[in-house]
Amino acid sequence: MIRYPVSKAQLEALIEAEKPGWLAKAAKKTKTFRDLGHYDEASSDWSEVKAVYMRLQGEGKCAYCERKLESVAFGKVEQDIEHFRPKGNIKHWKTPKKLADQGIAATPAPNAGKGYYLLPYHPFNYAAACKPCNSTLKKDYFPIAGQYALDVDDPTKLADELAYLVYPIGSIDDDPEQLITFYGLSPKSVATVASHAQHRALVTIEFFKLDEPEKRKNLYRERAFIIMALFALLEKTTVGTPAEIKQAKDRLDGLLTPALAHLNCAKSFVRLFNDLPDEARVIYDRVLQFLSSIS
Ligand SMILES: [Zn+2]
Repeated sequence: MIRYPVSKAQLEALIEAEKPGWLAKAAKKTKTFRDLGHYDEASSDWSEVKAVYMRLQGEGKCAYCERKLESVAFGKVEQDIEHFRPKGNIKHWKTPKKLADQGIAATPAPNAGKGYYLLPYHPFNYAAACKPCNSTLKKDYFPIAGQYALDVDDPTKLADELAYLVYPIGSIDDDPEQLITFYGLSPKSVATVASHAQHRALVTIEFFKLDEPEKRKNLYRERAFIIMALFALLEKTTVGTPAEIKQAKDRLDGLLTPALAHLNCAKSFVRLFNDLPDEARVIYDRVLQFLSSIS
């Protein structure tokens, strides 16, 4: 995961440019849910702003796994507009034993049938996500370590909930790259001692199966191709004429933008190459072996 920076004013302007009048409609709907005391409506309107989030997220990357899907013009069908905090119901996420053994305990979910009913139309409660991450894995889960605060209408005021999952749009949550890094193809926690930061990384990695090469083959395959391509370019930054080295470095910088799939993995590998080139070569060899072994 990486962060996709945008301010509240910028995000609202992008939404209004995409669908004029959407924010006023959203405010009206939120008032209805407030009066009702829960989320209920016959038809929803958030798909109208899906393209805003796809553009923001590197032109079509999943907020959680960083896969890059089809262009905004053709790819809407591949992506969901995902509610980070579930709108109508919260399912209890059973903490896997390997995480419970590390002191992670998800707070029991509130009674069924109630979710963050004031947030279905909050711009900072959306992200574009691929179907495996959203429909298969995220569903209505939202594990936290604190107490659920379902009556709050502003996600920036929910830090006390101690959410385990990380919200990557704007700067209202931790920067995912401060929590999760990569060693080769596999994600890991930046923090190595027990803390909420470490727990967030471990839960996010486990929740979205980001470190399971069998279950999420495409993630590993794509990360491997990126490391293979990066390695060739990184080698060129170390030998040749000054002009050739500069060209290679410029090309590397041009690649390492939020539009690149698996940017967190890519940047982690570049850091490893620069700090410990011999170790990066070992990883590169393993990546080649992995690519020749997968179906
Ligand atoms: Zn995904």
